[in-house]
Amino acid sequence: MNIDFNKNNDGLVPAIVQDANTKNVLMLGYMNQEAYNKTIDSSKVTFYSRTKSRLWTKGEESGNFLNLVDIKLDCDNDTLLVMVDPVGPTCHKGTDTCWGEENKSTFGFITELENIIQNRKDQADGIIPIPEGVKPSYVSSLFKSGINKVAQKVGEEAVEVVIEAKDDNDQLFKDESADLLFHYLILLQAKGFKLQDIVKVLESRH
Ligand code: AMP
Ligand code: ZN
Ligand code: ZN
Ligand code: ZN
Repeated sequence: MNIDFNKNNDGLVPAIVQDANTKNVLMLGYMNQEAYNKTIDSSKVTFYSRTKSRLWTKGEESGNFLNLVDIKLDCDNDTLLVMVDPVGPTCHKGTDTCWGEENKSTFGFITELENIIQNRKDQADGIIPIPEGVKPSYVSSLFKSGINKVAQKVGEEAVEVVIEAKDDNDQLFKDESADLLFHYLILLQAKGFKLQDIVKVLESRH
């Protein structure tokens, strides 16, 4: 890899550390050629510590190593993206990331939708108040009608997907697929699960 270690005239390049699985940014460190070589040779992410003025393998004291998955060089060869599988929390303050965040999986908009569905369930359960003046929530009323009704909706939407699969109307097929996924997310929530729990099962079979 042709890394430009001398942009800052200090022999160091920033190394952005990203969880290879969740894609969250965990921390930022610096590498010199030696740190880079050691990282590749040991598969444990090793930085050049500017405070310690020596090579520093993340986790050398805490055991919270960053196992190397892949390293990518950016467009102008001066910044590394280090993709890892972290053993424990990455920050020495005990949090998952150095910005105090949890390193949880996100599925983009699907995660946003899961959060909205959870909010509607909490409203249905009376855990959080229903804001005044808003129209009654379909999702809340579905939760209130019970698990059997929620499960039945998944069955109905699945049948609709099957019907549209036999046709050649792409739009109808996509619409029914969206209905199925939406109601499946509601069923998962009703059972106390998130999509990530199911993804874990799939990963364990892989
Ligand atoms: P560790 O590498 O986890 O064994 O931690 C050893 C020392 O490195 C800690 O006591 C901190 O001083 C420092 N350190 C550990 N993790 C980080 C981090 N994510 N960012 C900055 N410094 C850290
Ligand atoms: Zn760059
Ligand atoms: Zn930190
Ligand atoms: Zn439908």
